[in-house]
Amino acid sequence: MHRRKFIKNAALVGTAMIGLHQFARAWDNEPKLDAVMPVLFVGHGSPMNAIEQNKFSDTWKELAKKLPAPKAIMVVSAHWETVGTKVTAMPHPTTIHDFGGFPQALHDAEYPAPGSPEMAKETATLLSKWEVHEDHSWGLDHGTWSILLPMYPEAKIPVYQMSLDVRKKPEEQFALAQDLYELRKRGVLIIGSGNIVHNLRMIQWNDTAYDWADAFNTTVKKIITSGDDYSKLIDYRNLENNKYAIPTPEHYLPLLYTLGLKTNKDTVSFFNDVTTNGSLAMTSLLIQSV
Ligand code: ZN
Repeated sequence: MHRRKFIKNAALVGTAMIGLHQFARAWDNEPKLDAVMPVLFVGHGSPMNAIEQNKFSDTWKELAKKLPAPKAIMVVSAHWETVGTKVTAMPHPTTIHDFGGFPQALHDAEYPAPGSPEMAKETATLLSKWEVHEDHSWGLDHGTWSILLPMYPEAKIPVYQMSLDVRKKPEEQFALAQDLYELRKRGVLIIGSGNIVHNLRMIQWNDTAYDWADAFNTTVKKIITSGDDYSKLIDYRNLENNKYAIPTPEHYLPLLYTLGLKTNKDTVSFFNDVTTNGSLAMTSLLIQSV
């Protein structure tokens, strides 16, 4: 397997800065009365991004400053797979340290944001045809708090999670996401948290990327920017190199939730748009109304 040598910092910083410039331009416009909340897909990568100041967490932090203040945040995390779709409904979700072998500082990190039993109930009601169940046993896993800690360090905004139902087909998960649109109008910031390319067995601890990782990420981005027909992304098992890029689907599927929430009034921009660590894409999406 050939690996592409990567021009490290210049390319990465350049990409991040282009991303930030795009946010600034977009939000410098006059706010619209009918504006709805943007939607994000965030490539979360290593849990260490939660406590490390780096180009990824810096971008998350800057992005949060540009977004309208959410009334609540709902995260569809790669790290919560269940039988049947669930939403966390506890008033005080615990911080789940669902990883091992990291420094004690990461295990000690907490994200004490309140939950939102009210929004969880409303979400389950909104999705009544999907039989969504309220959950009182999970909490906030690192797919959620590792990005929210840099974005909203005060942890004041209510946060709840939606699970990935292992029994639902990708097309059903996309359709379910479309039914979440009302939450955008209610001021809920919906975040899909995963990675477009995620293969831990092939991970490299350096700033290079496999050719196939780059190629797969580019293919996905091209489909996203070429229009609103996301059937090729829903049928991701037909995309070239999918077996390397998506050996298991949980980090990819949150992308479908984000895209399912896009309407023809929205634009898409990319940030943290890099492949790294051999087999990881940090490429993230901001979807916002124009
Ligand atoms: Zn992850």
